[in-house]
Amino acid sequence: MLIPMRVRFPPSPTGALHIGNARTALYNWLLARGQGGALVLRVEDTDRERSTPENVQMIFDALEWLGIDWDEGPTYQTANAERHAEVVQRLVDGGHAYRSTAGPDEVKAYKEEHGNRGFRGEDEGTGATRLRVPDEGVTVVQDVIRGETEFENALLDDLVIARADGTLVYHLAVVVDDADAGITHVVRGADHYSNTPKQILIQKAIGAPTPIYAHLPLLHGPDGKKLSKRHGAASVQDLRDAGYLPEAVLNYLALLGWGYDETTEFHSIEELQQRFSLERVSKSPAVFDENKLRYMNGRYLRGLDVDDLTRRLEALTGRSGLRGAVEISQDKISTLTEFWPLTHFLFDGPADDPAAREKVIEAPGGREALASARAALAEVPEPWTEERVQAALDGVAERLGVKRKQVFQPLRVALTGTTVSPGIFETVALLGRDETLARVDHALNGRKGT
Ligand code: GLU
Repeated sequence: MLIPMRVRFPPSPTGALHIGNARTALYNWLLARGQGGALVLRVEDTDRERSTPENVQMIFDALEWLGIDWDEGPTYQTANAERHAEVVQRLVDGGHAYRSTAGPDEVKAYKEEHGNRGFRGEDEGTGATRLRVPDEGVTVVQDVIRGETEFENALLDDLVIARADGTLVYHLAVVVDDADAGITHVVRGADHYSNTPKQILIQKAIGAPTPIYAHLPLLHGPDGKKLSKRHGAASVQDLRDAGYLPEAVLNYLALLGWGYDETTEFHSIEELQQRFSLERVSKSPAVFDENKLRYMNGRYLRGLDVDDLTRRLEALTGRSGLRGAVEISQDKISTLTEFWPLTHFLFDGPADDPAAREKVIEAPGGREALASARAALAEVPEPWTEERVQAALDGVAERLGVKRKQVFQPLRVALTGTTVSPGIFETVALLGRDETLARVDHALNGRKGT
């Protein structure tokens, strides 16, 4: 019988949710959703100083924004302190662990004396609790992504599983909590790989089964260095603030170390759930490239229904009545944050950019073209549509014998204040006749010609 997969995501809430951890959460979620398993959320809040309620909330918010939900939890590691202490006591009682006052200096001295072999201490009945590591044999880590590695037990130190004051050490808490939750697969970042033999030794001592391990490749920036704030966005919060869509972020995160085949990059969430498998996760570091994310985001954004995009932009800007502006700018923006700089002229009037004016309206022929455009637009019969606006403006260029751009650019600067804007016909159609003519008049009269 196939045992249903039980996976977990155990963030340490020390700040915003980092991109690497978000990928870990995503892969676990895809496994649970794609294979009918369960995802357990466990908050590893043993660092009491940094695990503030605000930091915990930041993790939840980021997961919610990404659309990653869970089936069990959240549980809090500190709430299990009694259970952890009980397991430690059981290990001591069973002779699997002992208490020792040896500190880092003693451990170092021991290793120097013993040709760098792992530290072995004496039972002193007081001090930190250390797990007895066997002197013989090997601890084998089987990893779905990285294959099999043997660690010589003789080289591993007797491991501290509880401090002298009784507070717990990460390795013991993780092993106990995973075992109690019936976790079948531990899928986590490669930075935890070296912890794995230690955790397997604890599992053996407490008689817990060893889960299947999969250590995900590290994330690098485009320069080949470990991903950090230096590379720009480093957390899910940064990505949200930069105007990326959660569905594009999910799709892009999925590709950081996994691929369905050589060519398919765009996957819906349902497809990711069906297609994702640990077997296709790579060992080599994955590169987080924000340009690639931008490109994918642009594709997602252009594929959104106008009403949907409008809703998101209205939520972001706190404005209403944006649908028209969204319609004329959707194919010009790659992120949500690019929308307002491109379209606010529609609501707030043209930007004040004397350089653009000078270069375009005050250039030879600029005013003449603008005045002719005004006259032609004034004559456009009702209803005021994009097609009729276009016909009128094309006619102006023809009559003046100039390139279309020589008519459109002065008009664009008059209406928007800048040389970059949504399409000129759509802009004019959306502004309406009265507003268009008023802005052109203002541009023509705002500064008298020579
Ligand atoms: N709390 C650890 C972290 O956030 C994860 C531990 C684990 O996955 O075993 O890095």
